Amino acid sequence: MEFSIISEMFEMMEKTTKRIELTNILVELLKKTPKKIIPNVVYLLQGIIRPNFEGVELGIAEKLAIRAISKSAGLPIKKIEDDYRDGGDLGLTASNILKIKTQTTFTAEKITVERVYETLFKIAKLEGKGSQDLKMKYISSLLNDATPLEAKFVIKILLGTLRLGIAENTVMDALAIAFTGKKENRVQIENAYNVSSDLGKVSLIVATDGIDEIKKFKISLFSPIRPMLADRVQSEKDVIKKMPEQFVAEYKLDGERVQIHKQSDKIVLFSRRLENITQYYPDIVERIGKTLNVNEGVFEAEIVPINENTGEFLPFQELMHRRRKYKLDKAVSQYPITVNFFDVLYYDKKDCLNLECSERRKILEQIVHEDNFSKLVPMLFVKNENEVEDFLENSINAGCEGLMLKDPSAPYRAGMRGSNWLKLKREYRNELGDSLDLIVIGAYFGRGRRTGLYGTLLLATYNPEKDNFPSICKVGTGFTDESLDQLYQILSNKVTLKKNPRIVSEMEADIWFEPELVLEIVASEITLSPIHKTGLDLIRKSSGFALRFPKFTGKIRYEKAVEDASTGEEVFALYKRQSKINHEKWAFFREKYDIN
Ligand code: ATP
Repeated sequence: MEFSIISEMFEMMEKTTKRIELTNILVELLKKTPKKIIPNVVYLLQGIIRPNFEGVELGIAEKLAIRAISKSAGLPIKKIEDDYRDGGDLGLTASNILKIKTQTTFTAEKITVERVYETLFKIAKLEGKGSQDLKMKYISSLLNDATPLEAKFVIKILLGTLRLGIAENTVMDALAIAFTGKKENRVQIENAYNVSSDLGKVSLIVATDGIDEIKKFKISLFSPIRPMLADRVQSEKDVIKKMPEQFVAEYKLDGERVQIHKQSDKIVLFSRRLENITQYYPDIVERIGKTLNVNEGVFEAEIVPINENTGEFLPFQELMHRRRKYKLDKAVSQYPITVNFFDVLYYDKKDCLNLECSERRKILEQIVHEDNFSKLVPMLFVKNENEVEDFLENSINAGCEGLMLKDPSAPYRAGMRGSNWLKLKREYRNELGDSLDLIVIGAYFGRGRRTGLYGTLLLATYNPEKDNFPSICKVGTGFTDESLDQLYQILSNKVTLKKNPRIVSEMEADIWFEPELVLEIVASEITLSPIHKTGLDLIRKSSGFALRFPKFTGKIRYEKAVEDASTGEEVFALYKRQSKINHEKWAFFREKYDIN
């Protein structure tokens, strides 16, 4: 299939934000695509080449892409950089530059989707000495045969900046319409996607075998299941309102969520974002098998660092030592962990997703042999506010974040956030009642002790409708010397020449980053701001929300993608709550002091 077909459709998709139009273009594209390359096209649409959990990343740096464009065009690097600086989009630059070239030369061969995909795959697999030069050669050889429009999209895919605004749901709608003729069949497709996290694989089955095969779709080991998520509640009272008469309460441990896949001796671990994190936990790989009384299984657990002498839970941050690859051995021995099981999704050929929550817990209790490494999350059946409160108190005293409340009769709803699971956290953590997960978009150089580091960071929320990052505050407190160092190291790899066009901010930062890193922030209050862009116009025209006295909690939320960060809507909800509280306080004073 000619790559020009895809690039022309990508161009059309870029120009529209209307979901119906996007779906129609997608349907047309899928129908034109030969069946065997449908998965490849579905991955490319998402700007990836394999499902995320396989960790096949293109990871091309802007500099390398600039060198490749310069080589293909026979123009100096400086010229490419200048065009990029003016336009802010390297894909467009490639297209502009190649337009000049194609006026004078004749492109020999038409590039195909198959060739582009294979080349991207080869590039992703290259590593080690000399790999940069080889990558550059592959890219420029593609660009040599590409039209300007094709070059634009090749570069965008390579850099990971292809943003067609297509949500997974839209792709699933299009698959349902294109291959089954009915949009309603999206539900079955979605179920299959939720248990495999691989839209490519699902699309191939829909396209070749139809919806009946999709209905039979099963969990496969080592293909992660999308996690079930919880709704937030503010009080014990809210819990009682939303739960049935008797329900499950479990400690909400504060660690890293892990999905453990086991088949005989083989163990693979996936994070909440479904990335393969097996490499960081050699101790789990070595020890967990012995504590699980089954040949095969998929389990969910929370990894929590502990003090080995006292058995106490330690702060979540201790796990981050494991992310420093070169010191992993040391981290494993210095920062021991426990694995705390809270769900079983599959074991020995039995799918557990449709079993009731309390049934799954019973099975889990039979499978997990507890020792000082593997544990079951403490659980209790409760009925009323007092019981919830008592158990919450115990959980906080044990160093946990709060409680998870679960409807005992509910199945495991993969990929869904809903009220079958509720999370209740202790409110004293900060005056807003909850922390926010914010994205680092820029920084200001430090002074004094912070010279040579980023002293203050500029943060943003995520806007899912516009798929961009409006700013919300600057944060300069809550950092230790160690966290400043660590953040510097992480963020230095994310510096961009220009502000990413998806960042919405009037602030001028000293340096801009690729929006990729999420930090946990607390604050004393949400205020209205003429400068920040989160929730713009929601309360007052030309005003957004800002945080007053924001503070970094010390938690880098590696397990969250930027799309999981707090949104303007969430800030709005906290703002309304805060105003309600202020309003109540004011009413109280008015009554007490007889003020009119
Ligand atoms: P948070 O920001 O509170 O960690 P989240 O967005 O990561 O939330 P939620 O579904 O809102 O995910 O909260 C559930 C999270 O709490 C899980 O992802 C898991 O990491 C953790 N957790 C701790 N203990 C439990 C438990 N007993 N059952 C389920 N999840 C638990």
